[in-house]
Amino acid sequence: MRDSFDREIHYLRVSLTDRCNYRCVYCMPEKGVVFHPHGNHLSDEELVRLIRIMAPLGFDRIRLTGGEPLLYPGLAALVRGIRDLGIPAIKLTTNGFLLERQAIPLKEAGLVSVNVSLDAVDEDVFYRMSRRHAAERVIRGIDAALDAGLDVKINAVIMRGVNDGQILPLLDLASSRHCCIRYLEVMAMGHLHDQAEKYLFSQKDILSVIATRHKFRPLGRSGSATASYWQTDEGLRFGVIANETEPFCRDCDRLRLDSSGNIYGCLSSNHPILLDNKEDETKWTEKLQQALLQKQALRFTGSDLSMLHIGG
Ligand code: SAM
Repeated sequence: MRDSFDREIHYLRVSLTDRCNYRCVYCMPEKGVVFHPHGNHLSDEELVRLIRIMAPLGFDRIRLTGGEPLLYPGLAALVRGIRDLGIPAIKLTTNGFLLERQAIPLKEAGLVSVNVSLDAVDEDVFYRMSRRHAAERVIRGIDAALDAGLDVKINAVIMRGVNDGQILPLLDLASSRHCCIRYLEVMAMGHLHDQAEKYLFSQKDILSVIATRHKFRPLGRSGSATASYWQTDEGLRFGVIANETEPFCRDCDRLRLDSSGNIYGCLSSNHPILLDNKEDETKWTEKLQQALLQKQALRFTGSDLSMLHIGG
């Protein structure tokens, strides 16, 4: 499928649930958020049916996310169902809280890689970001995923004045596990739509902090990747996802599906297109085409939607 800018769209990000066991400060305000009613969630069968329609249209990469996807009952069975459709790249984004136990079953079901969100190594700073004490537990989850043979990346959102002191400790952690870490600029999404700038710790700022300790050289950004990468003289690769200061929308190759069956062409779009489970394949294909029309040429403009709902 191609959008109106002739980009080939072949990557689907699926939010399996908007429920989460964290309360991250970039996802929700202190008073919490209104969740979708449970009954609205897509069933496993509906998801597999949708992916069965999308596979012949060229979709070959699926990322399962949320909310927190490890809270989704029967996740391993769903991964197996998607693998059996012949999708080669099934990936997961998780906060890692429940990963220690689920890493092996997910790998056996066909999961290829996992991005684990870890915004701090220090428990107090971790709490300030997620309103939970779980850093140590997440690190055990990362180790379990590595032991299970999954490709693991660590993702850390960096917020000015909250966890910017964790950039080097997180790099040390990634280095000790020989895994790649990506730092994310905070995005103007959800309740931060109008105030992300206050917390923005830019790619330039992140590189300046790392430069106090390491020499590194740029590796660039490849294809539709969201991160640009660098390599330190010691051989460690790290990335920055600079959504705000160096938007990469022009290379976007994805659609998003939220846990109620709404499809979005763009993170900046607040106009969901509902895939009704009573509709047939032709109708769903038409709606996928409509979602492609939401795709923008270049600039991420933010949205009132929280990543919790649309899927991070
Ligand atoms: N619960 C899973 C997790 O924590 O990885 C998956 C969903 S969560 C919404 C995915 C990720 O979205 C977060 O860890 C964070 O990296 C990113 N995210 C959410 N809101 C964000 C924001 N306003 N700015 C930058 N990243 C954000």
